[in-house]
Amino acid sequence: GTDLQSPDQESLRAALKKYWGYDQFRPLQREAMQFALEHRDSVVVLPTGGGKSLCYQAPALVLEGLTVVVSPLISLMKDQVDSLTDCGVPAACVHSMVGPDEKRQIAEDIRSGKLKLLYCSPERVVQQRTVEFLKSVQVSQVAVDEAHCISSWGHDFRPEYRQLRLLKDALPGVGMHAYTATATEQVCRDVAEQLGLEDAQMLVGSFDRPNLIYRVKRKHQALEQVRAVVEKHAGSAGIVYCISRKEVERTAAALAGWGCRVRAYHAGLDAEIRRQHQEEFASEAVDIIVATVAFGMGIDKSNVRYVVHLGMPKSLEQYQQESGRAGRDGLEAECLLIHSGGDAPLWRRIIADGEANGQEGALTALASMSAFCQSAICRHRAIVEHFGQQFDRENCGACDVCLAEVDLVEDATIIGQKIASCVIRLEQRYGADYTAKVLVGSNEQRILERGHETLSTYGLMEEHPLRAVRDWTEQLVGQGFLEKTGEYNTLSLTERGERLLRGELQPLLLKPAKSKRSVVRTTSEN
Ligand code: ADP
Ligand code: ZN
Repeated sequence: GTDLQSPDQESLRAALKKYWGYDQFRPLQREAMQFALEHRDSVVVLPTGGGKSLCYQAPALVLEGLTVVVSPLISLMKDQVDSLTDCGVPAACVHSMVGPDEKRQIAEDIRSGKLKLLYCSPERVVQQRTVEFLKSVQVSQVAVDEAHCISSWGHDFRPEYRQLRLLKDALPGVGMHAYTATATEQVCRDVAEQLGLEDAQMLVGSFDRPNLIYRVKRKHQALEQVRAVVEKHAGSAGIVYCISRKEVERTAAALAGWGCRVRAYHAGLDAEIRRQHQEEFASEAVDIIVATVAFGMGIDKSNVRYVVHLGMPKSLEQYQQESGRAGRDGLEAECLLIHSGGDAPLWRRIIADGEANGQEGALTALASMSAFCQSAICRHRAIVEHFGQQFDRENCGACDVCLAEVDLVEDATIIGQKIASCVIRLEQRYGADYTAKVLVGSNEQRILERGHETLSTYGLMEEHPLRAVRDWTEQLVGQGFLEKTGEYNTLSLTERGERLLRGELQPLLLKPAKSKRSVVRTTSEN
């Protein structure tokens, strides 16, 4: 029930006004808070900037007892506690840096009912001592932030999140609420199951951010490409994300050299320096932050006018989250993604070196991200549909594709038909690499051994570089004309593909990259 006039809803509204000065709920906040008030377990998916924190913070003030918040990063916890304290909300966090005296004080403040919110890391909250303590006091709700971390289907699996189920079992009857910006339906269901939620209520907000203008470009002269955006928005706040610390340093130095007010931010910097740089950005002492993914979880700045990605993120979830930090005030903002053929292999290496358990999900997420960069369909549509939602605008008017800024080939239909018919000639039994090689007439041994040089489509696209044919094939997959299936990613034709062959549907295909470097680099890629 979401009765507007209920006394609880009135208390929520009053708390919102009193502590935060807000007059209204954002979409779905009221519904999410109602679950908290009714102690019904829930999974709440709202895009970055959607206002997830308030969904448990406001009820924490209305409910009797302590709200426990599980949060993955110390920096994030501190930011949250600081800003709550500023608003006059009694909150604290416990982590490895909190000393014994302070911990004793916190425990006392919880027992006396003074403290309303306690932030904990997942590792700490499941320690037996902590669990025993929480069982001895009145806990009003448990909020799990960044809850997608619990699912190995997600893009950011953290094994320590798996233990949280223990908390649910230890605190029967206490509502547990999972919040994330990044869950597909599969992840949502997994989150509920892994946490042991009972009859979990699901709430999924819209991922459409119409005020953001998305552009995706191939990397050619990276620094110049960044500079162009920065200069276009001179004097406004912007964030530039890089994959590596080295690249952060290099980019920040170049921007500083051009007279920009800029700071670097990455995990290799001293915590105090990081805090200072974040603060300078928040207070507009500087305009630009160049950062690795380490930056932004806690940042709360609504007037960021642009977000540039120098290098492809590892998932669309991450991209949505980071680009979503632009334009939270609802005014127009720009998101530019600069990618190169080397980004995916780099991520694959990072994934291979990481937690074994989450690799499958991470690789799938990476493939979706690559397809996004390769495709020439509306960026807004691609993102919204990726999150399993419907997109009903034909032309968004706010992405490079819809603004007709991307360089498209003119004979896309013919190219598409050539590729599709080669897939048919190969009896839909081969992958994208092999198909492309047949099309450009490669005399690789395995092609000759199988006699595929006698196919009518052999060499049919010999005037194009292999890389271009390979890219177009990916684009056809991305646009649903072809499909990759099975263990070997075998290409087959979809119904749309058949309509392409009949000339009823037309694909959009990008002009191949000119730079020689990206042509050479591809050989090592797949
Ligand atoms: P998320 O965690 O979903 O990314 P946050 O909880 O950080 O989002 O909220 C994003 C910003 O929106 C914060 O500055 C927050 O104070 C603000 N905000 C949240 N709810 C409201 C509201 N109802 N009215 C106005 N501002 C809000
Ligand atoms: Zn569009």
